[in-house]
Order: sequence, then structure tokens, then C-alpha cells
Amino acid sequence: MTELRFYDTLRRDKVAFAPIDPARVRMYVCGPTVYDYAHIGNARPILVFDVLFRLLRHVYGADHVTYVRNITDVDDKINARAAERGITIRQLTEETNAVFQDDVKALGALAPTVQPRATEHIAEMIAIIERLIASGHAYAAQGHVLFSVPSMADYGKLSRRSLDEMIAGARVDVASYKKDEMDFVLWKPSSAAEPGWDSPWGRGRPGWHIECSAMSWKHLGETFDIHGGGVDLVFPHHENEIAQSCCAFDRPVMANVWMHNGFLQVEGDKMSKSLGNFVTIHELLHGTSFGGRSWPGAVLRLAMLRTHYRQPIDWTAKALEEAESALRRFHQAAGSPDGAPSEQLVAALADDLNTPAALAELHALRAAGKADRLAASLALLGLWTPQLYRAEIDPAFAAKVDALIAARLDARKAKNWAESDRLRDELVALGVAIKDGKDGTSWEMKR
Ligand code: AMP
Ligand code: ZN
Repeated sequence: MTELRFYDTLRRDKVAFAPIDPARVRMYVCGPTVYDYAHIGNARPILVFDVLFRLLRHVYGADHVTYVRNITDVDDKINARAAERGITIRQLTEETNAVFQDDVKALGALAPTVQPRATEHIAEMIAIIERLIASGHAYAAQGHVLFSVPSMADYGKLSRRSLDEMIAGARVDVASYKKDEMDFVLWKPSSAAEPGWDSPWGRGRPGWHIECSAMSWKHLGETFDIHGGGVDLVFPHHENEIAQSCCAFDRPVMANVWMHNGFLQVEGDKMSKSLGNFVTIHELLHGTSFGGRSWPGAVLRLAMLRTHYRQPIDWTAKALEEAESALRRFHQAAGSPDGAPSEQLVAALADDLNTPAALAELHALRAAGKADRLAASLALLGLWTPQLYRAEIDPAFAAKVDALIAARLDARKAKNWAESDRLRDELVALGVAIKDGKDGTSWEMKR
């Protein structure tokens, strides 16, 4: 079996990967807070861990990998946005989640095995908090429940920060109900206007960190194989998940490997909502704000995979143009995807997801004329999108589309609307998008 090695943030080293149970490899990745459109920086962990999911499925078998990516649908940002827009929280989270699912599907991401919602795991959160109180790791005060950081001897081992750095990084509030300034919220009271659930500590809602401890426990157990997310989650979010889960279950380890992707940047700054330097996935796919045009999902995906996941990426229109021309050349040279992918490509991914080396192998396969290997390797990476390039690859197909377009124009000139609609439907069924402009009709393959 292929040996996998991944960089573990906790051990600060690349380590050999040995799943607890190879028949059920278990991975958890922190998913989106669904209050607004996701930006392309948020797509980076989605794509990085989608490549990892595909690699694990390839090595251990598609039915032997459980990938859990949660949906955070209770959060103060959600409450604020719903109030601002005058809609219910449920309407906002449903609408935002639906867009998110469409966006990441267009980027070629497989659906995770389970996408649990925080609001459906309140009972598990309460159960963990009760265990923490019983074992002296948490305490209730003024309707809040706080995790007691000094109760855990090795708190801080993931981020290895000094106490001062932790205090600065966590932006801790000094509050009268806290025994120690580092203590963090597990549960907080809700006003009548805020979403809330009954609990032993009164009506309230969970803190953010406890959500992931509860959902990973429910779907993956007390200890699992891989936990992932963006590097900004190391502290405090993942540090606090470890504290909650290890103390509640009296286990030394929450996840055996902790993997974190680097930032996607714009001119040297992290892309973020707060800096306002972001472009949404939706706008890249459907709009014209970046590079003056829209981009196929597979092009965005390829552009993302050109950089190793732990390095920063600078997001530029030029990189997207280069990715598009590479993707076109790959498909022009590719054959059938049904066979095995290149062993070198799998070996590159097995070495801490070395996607730049994997893409170099795609170029080598193309140059060597290994058409079927190339197609199967594109498929393993989630980059197999022959429909995008069908018209360029298959001249007979292009001629057929041109003939249908000409026939439709004739029908329109003859005001035979039924016939022109029928021809349009036929074109749509072939995956063709038609645009009627003042200079005539143009077409392209639907993305
Ligand atoms: P957030 O909505 O900030 O909780 O982020 C959701 C996910 O996207 C987390 O895993 C973040 O670490 C990740 N993320 C946010 N911004 C970026 C960025 N600019 N580059 C890479 N990952 C990011
Ligand atoms: Zn999380």
C-alpha cells in the first residue's frame, strides 16, 4: 500500500500516516459559518481537503473513508445578518448554505460523507459540557459555562504560544464571570430575541469551539485520524477543541494528525471579509469582477492546486489565465479516464499533498502522449471536465452545434418560434450555452 506522509502541526514534523482503522479512515474539517457568500480564500481548505479525501479514497477504498465537514448555523454573525436583512435565521442559513453547496460543487469538490449542522447537535454539546463540569474542567457562572484553562496541564501544545501571545491572540474579554482571563465560553445565555435552547444552565446557546468537539465526537468518535482547517484556526479554535475533547473524554489525543492550509492572499494580505479585499466564489464563477470575466470551476481549482497547501498563494488573474490554458492543453491530449492514474502522481500526493509535483507529472504525461493515464490522473485530482473542451476536442461536435445554431436563426427569421425553441432545447441538452447579441449569436460550452 502507498505510504502516506503528512505534516502534523502538533508534532511540527512530516509523519507517516497510520489510520486507527484502515477500514474506516476518519477526517474532520471545520466548515463554513453560513451567514454570507464564501470567498475564494474560504475555498482553499475545501479544495485542499477534497484532494486529501480523494487520495485517501484512492488508497484505502472509496467506502473506507469518512469525511465530516460541519456547517456552523448558530453564531452571532448569523443573528446580526438575519436581523439586518429582516429574515429569519433559518432563512439566512438555508439560503447561504445552498449557495455554498453549489459553489463548492462547481469547484469539483466531492460531497463529504456527513455535513452535520451545529443546531442539530445541541444535546451532544450539553453532554460534553456536563462531563467537563463533573471532572472539574469547567464551571457555570451567571448563566455562562466557562472552560477552565488552568485545569488542563498541557493547554497550548498545538499552537505553542506563550501565555501573553495567547491572551493577545484570543482577544479575551475580561468578564466578571471568568475565574481566569484565558477561560473560554462553552455556553452563554440568550435573550428572548436570540436563538436559544434549554439547558441545565438556563436558556442559551453554545460557544463556537464546542460545536466541533460535539460534531466530531458524534460522527467520528473520541479520537480520530485527521483534523484540518485553515492556519488561522490553530489558535484559539483548534487549541480549544483539543482542550474540550481531551478533557471530556479523558483521552491524550483528539486527532492523530492536525493539518492546516496557508492563506490565500491578495497583494501580500490575507484575503478576508474584514479587510474587504475579497472576491466570492460565486462572483468568480458567474460574474465579471475578477479579470473582467467569469471562470470555470475547474480553472479555479487548478489555480489553487498549483501552490503547495502550506504555502501562501497570491490570487491573480494572470494565474487563472495560465491555469486555463494548462487545463485546455491537458484535455486536448487526454484519452479515457477509466484506467489507473499515474503512480508518480499518487506518490507526489502521498508526500504531504505535493500538488505542484502532481501537476508537473500531468505536464510530463501530456508531453509523453500517455493519453489514458493523463485522463485518469486528471480524474483523481478532480480536474476531469471534458465537457468544457468538447467543442475544441471534437470537430464533428463543433460542426453539429454550428448547424443547429444556423437552423435556429432561420427559424427565428421565419418567426417559427416553436421550432426555434425546440432547437434551443436541443443545444442546451448538448451542454451548449447560447448568447444572442447584436452582432449575431455566439456560443460556448456550459460550465
Ligand atoms: P471563516 O469563515 O473565517 O471561519 O473561515 C472558514 C475557513 O476558511 C477556515 O478554515 C479558515 O481558516 C479558512 N480561510 C479563511 N480565509 C482564508 C484565506 N484567506 N486563505 C485560506 N484559508 C482561509
Ligand atoms: Zn472546528
